[in-house]
Amino acid sequence: MRNLKIKTNKTDLKQIFRVKDKIIACDGGEDYGHPLIYLNLTKGVKQVCPYCSKIFILKK
Ligand SMILES: [Zn+2]
Repeated sequence: MRNLKIKTNKTDLKQIFRVKDKIIACDGGEDYGHPLIYLNLTKGVKQVCPYCSKIFILKK
């Protein structure tokens, strides 16, 4: 899963988001604009959006 190829115009810059909700929705924002998906966060486990590679970490 680590080498999953994703269309990236930018550098490999990872975007890390610390969120308070366990369920977060990602639609890629302006840059990517992928279909809306939901990621289920567990405390201490980060989730990576399969579309845009944004990383979400649940904040305490
Ligand atoms: Zn995304």
